[in-house]
Amino acid sequence: MGSIADNLARVRERIAEAAVRSGRTPDSVKLVGVTKTVDVERIKEAVSSGLQILGENYVQEARDKIKEVGGQVSWHFIGKLQTNKAKYAVKLFDMIQTVDSFKLATELNRRAQPLGRTIPIIIQVNLASEVSKGGVEPAECISLIKQISNLVNLQIQGLMTMPPFFYQPERARPYFAQLRELSQKIGEAQLPGVEMNELSMGMSGDFETAIEEGATLVRVGTAIFGERP
Ligand SMILES: *Cc1c(COP(=O)(O)O)cnc(C)c1O
Repeated sequence: MGSIADNLARVRERIAEAAVRSGRTPDSVKLVGVTKTVDVERIKEAVSSGLQILGENYVQEARDKIKEVGGQVSWHFIGKLQTNKAKYAVKLFDMIQTVDSFKLATELNRRAQPLGRTIPIIIQVNLASEVSKGGVEPAECISLIKQISNLVNLQIQGLMTMPPFFYQPERARPYFAQLRELSQKIGEAQLPGVEMNELSMGMSGDFETAIEEGATLVRVGTAIFGERP
């Protein structure tokens, strides 16, 4: 691994190439640097090299880092969110990518309301029905979105997924395509207050494939910060 600045530059280059390859502009893909287990010094190094969006999996861990790294960057929550952490999440994060139940959405909405905030959220979809992963089943996605769209302090912006792990990124492609198709279908339904502008998919091992299938947010940790302990 090179320095964080070098890694970041290389990831950006690969993002741009994948975007252009699929007839899109490089700025149509936003990089979320995944900083779970990464210490504040290294996060600051990435931020000073231009990283603007950070993704965190744990509320408690994020709270300490946000205090130190601060608000010049956007913080996305990308982990499994327990309902009892919703009250912290609405204060700390600019976007919550992993909403997958009406119960969680209701609690986020209830906690956002007294803050006068409308929280941008993304609906997590579990395409392969993996028990180890969060996400709504694709067949239930539309009805969940209809329910959540009535919650005025949340703003649905798109879909997120984490496909099964494969060593060959090509094998994840059908899942990425499936998320894009689901998002198109929901977009065509023109549900009031629902936007389908974001597709959050792709990690260190497969972000180029995800971009070729339409990703607008890629969540990359290892390729920027190195292997996690
Ligand atoms: C850890 C994590 C990532 C980043 O994974 P890498 O393989 O390190 O790039 C992306 N998305 C989610 C939801 C994660 O938990």
